[in-house]
Amino acid sequence: MSNYRVGQGFDVHKLVEGRRLVLGGVEIPYEKGALAHSDGDVLIHAIVDAILGVMAMRDIGFHFPDTSEETEGIDSTVILKKVLEWLKEKGFSLENLDATVIVDKPKLSPHIEAIRENLSRIIGIEKENISIKAKTSEGVMFTNEACAAIVNVLVKMNT
Ligand code: MG
Repeated sequence: MSNYRVGQGFDVHKLVEGRRLVLGGVEIPYEKGALAHSDGDVLIHAIVDAILGVMAMRDIGFHFPDTSEETEGIDSTVILKKVLEWLKEKGFSLENLDATVIVDKPKLSPHIEAIRENLSRIIGIEKENISIKAKTSEGVMFTNEACAAIVNVLVKMNT
């Protein structure tokens, strides 16, 4: 068996007034935020799905259902830390992460470094191994204002 595996994840949430916008565990100042059962952190949700994908362990909704009271308003970094524990228990270490966040507003570039630093601290890998790219949808991808994320991860099996 190969010593490496890849995983990919995707998530999208609608942006509405009266909610916080949290990306990679960092609060982004904006008049709208993600409509979600949890804190609606699309970037972390996509990272979690990518990590679960590596282990062929279904998806975030399977393990942390949005119908459960336990996950209501949950800080998504708690979910990320949990799946990172599972990854470690299975003998894998996360090598690098490459993410694309798609949002028309607000501009993410002033927040990219803070997000990389926060994820580096949570995941326990160097910031140099965490890539966050910000794209707009040019106003054509979403019917409603929304924020989406696509993530790829590479993990190594520690033999
Ligand atoms: Mg989600």
